[in-house]
Amino acid sequence: MTAHVRPKAFDNFKARDFRMLIDGAWTQGAGSAIERVAPGHGVVVSRYPAGTKADAERAIAAARKAFDNGPWPNMTGAERSNILLKAADLIAARADELAFLDTIESGKPISQAKAELGGAVDIWRYAAALARDLHGESYNTLGDGTLGVVLREAIGVVSIITPWNFPFLIVSQKLPFALAAGCTTVVKPSELTSGSTLVLGEILIEAGVPAGVVNIVTGTGPEVGAPMTTHPDVDMVSFTGSTGVGRLTMANAAQTLKKVSLELGGKNPQIVFPDADLDAFIDAAVFGAYFNAGECCNAGSRLILHTSIADDVTARIAELAKKVKVGDPLDPTTQVGAIITPQHLDKIGAYVEGASKAGASVTLGGGALDLGLGQFMAPTILSGVQPDMAVAREEVFGPVLSVLTFDTTEDAIRIANAIDYGLSAGVWSRDFDTCLTIGRKVRAGTVWMNTFMDGASELPFGGYRQSGLGRELGRHAVEDYTETKTLNMHIGARTDWWMPR
Ligand code: NDP
Repeated sequence: MTAHVRPKAFDNFKARDFRMLIDGAWTQGAGSAIERVAPGHGVVVSRYPAGTKADAERAIAAARKAFDNGPWPNMTGAERSNILLKAADLIAARADELAFLDTIESGKPISQAKAELGGAVDIWRYAAALARDLHGESYNTLGDGTLGVVLREAIGVVSIITPWNFPFLIVSQKLPFALAAGCTTVVKPSELTSGSTLVLGEILIEAGVPAGVVNIVTGTGPEVGAPMTTHPDVDMVSFTGSTGVGRLTMANAAQTLKKVSLELGGKNPQIVFPDADLDAFIDAAVFGAYFNAGECCNAGSRLILHTSIADDVTARIAELAKKVKVGDPLDPTTQVGAIITPQHLDKIGAYVEGASKAGASVTLGGGALDLGLGQFMAPTILSGVQPDMAVAREEVFGPVLSVLTFDTTEDAIRIANAIDYGLSAGVWSRDFDTCLTIGRKVRAGTVWMNTFMDGASELPFGGYRQSGLGRELGRHAVEDYTETKTLNMHIGARTDWWMPR
């Protein structure tokens, strides 16, 4: 057991006490408190209320009232847009505070948390623009007597449930789009990383979001999240998390046939051909596998290398991976931070052990790192992984890279697709035809060509198969939070049904 040295940054630090936001008021609720111990420092950094089912129900009632009585859904797009733009400015102004919270609660490096905040501000601005551009269609081609108008209406009350790995970024991929559409919401952040979402609540009030439009309830999934997926007053659930809980969410929502949007796990292949720019790929492979300590749905955790280059490329990846700086998340030069909980570290270790027993070799790392802080895992490479091994099919969600090989393009596509997930993929080749063939045949929501993990607010993100349902970001994201209504209008007198003439 590591003896934790209290880091200097915590000399004058006082754990922050948060409250939940229900119907415009900050409340402790009736439950006890959840204490968050910083995974990279072993120090209690935050306390949030352990919300109850009754708190979730009060929040849903507040969101329902705010939707049914307005004013939020009845405002003009421009009015909502202006409030979202103000929120974006306030997020930017408090970015350091938000990044610090995400770092101490999740263990991610501070430089990365700051970059995520920059990305989040851009998303809020993009969603604000879409609030003014949400529109339906009209059909003036249905004959002289008919005009068809297709409206986009806010779907209603949306439950938003988020995970711990990108606390502020993921809520920002959902909430501004739901708000842009005119929806009202109940948000449940992960019980491990609720701080930045609660600060967002303060920001939204300051920006002018009316009471009840955004409610934030902290607590556990079974206690707070579950009623948010079953309650008849909720119209839609937008969930990001594991495929297992996503499946449960869908089953729960089916009781009242709610719309669901699911962003789930991934086991993302990177297929590499001998003609690729290998320097660029090796850099991207190390980044793709160890970014956010591999606790990333998009992690490039499965390399599929052409047999002719596999040994050389694996050795070069290992060389670079050895130089990755794992350490104190608050150190601005750290590249890989802590693992979210000790239990999760054990789970990652069990995958490595299972892969070794199944015949894979540990080329690099393979175990925990004792840095005298919280819990850390060494960047790990497993070679000789076969497509049927658990480590090749299941999401490890840690800094573990599995190396597989292929001989023909058809093999590569078959191996890439031989899993239940389909979130993202990468292909590396200088040959245009090869890239496009892989791009079209690999079943994944995003395929990167000669790059990895790039994103933009404009580009839709989401998964095929058990990686999810629906898409976030992009111009269609706002439409996901709407219902489609047809207005079929007749022009002039009409008596041509059954009335005898
Ligand atoms: P979980 O599925 O465990 O939890 C996600 C959220 O669901 C948490 O807020 C959790 O609450 C809540 N929850 C748990 N049980 C229930 C329930 N019965 N009803 C309703 N809500 C519930 O995922 P993790 O937090 O462990 O996050 C990691 C997972 O998220 C990985 O599988 C990863 O791939 C996926 N992910 C997907 C992304 C994507 O866009 N595709 C992006 C980022 C992550 P609690 O506070 O109790 O944990």
